Amino acid sequence: MKKGFIITIDGPAGSGKSSTARLLASKLDFLYLDTGAMYRCVALAALDAGVDLKNENAVGGVAGSVNIDFLHADDENKVLLDGEDVSSRIREPRVDSASSLVSSYRIVREKMVDLQRKFGAKGDIIAEGRDMGTVVFPDADLKIFLVADLETRARRRCLQLNDAGIESSIEEQTASLSSRDMFDSNRKFSPLEKAPDAVEIDTSNISLNEQVQKIYDVVVRRLNLE
Ligand code: C5P
Repeated sequence: MKKGFIITIDGPAGSGKSSTARLLASKLDFLYLDTGAMYRCVALAALDAGVDLKNENAVGGVAGSVNIDFLHADDENKVLLDGEDVSSRIREPRVDSASSLVSSYRIVREKMVDLQRKFGAKGDIIAEGRDMGTVVFPDADLKIFLVADLETRARRRCLQLNDAGIESSIEEQTASLSSRDMFDSNRKFSPLEKAPDAVEIDTSNISLNEQVQKIYDVVVRRLNLE
């Protein structure tokens, strides 16, 4: 296999990107880059510092000063914000809408994209987010776009939160996901959209294992063509 293979996985919240990317990365022995976690870190740091999230420059200052890193150990992916493990805190529901807002600011995106490309330069990565195939890695070797119906996504998200000990209802998640989708798809900079050369997979009616296998098969087919 050639070195520095980049796979991008984009799609709306709850389409199965994170679980798929994580499992696929471990199957292929690739680095898993969770770019949503990076925007979540900026949002969390701004919330912790009491910064007004509507103040674009102040949030930009936060994005420029935080140190975000990932730790892959014992099959676990930890997200580090200024050295602190914030893997659980960044998943709190209040961070969902905050991350969507801060990620709409150009200054924040520029800083995160720089960092994402630095991680990408390490090669053999699976980068997951909203604009991986369109903006951050337009020359990626393989681009996947995952979709799923809103009800399925809300159900999955609810299960994830309940597993993490956070109570939430399907109704709450349906409302939260649809407003986040709307905001992410209509923002000015790097909106959520499918790259023209991405392979679209609908995950509504397939299991996680089937979804991972499907993409794995595409990867193998692509590699055989190299
Ligand atoms: O994927 P996740 O739900 O963790 O992402 C949190 C938020 O970060 C999204 O709602 C989206 O607004 C933003 N995001 C983004 N670009 C990415 C990844 C995430 O704008 N590449």
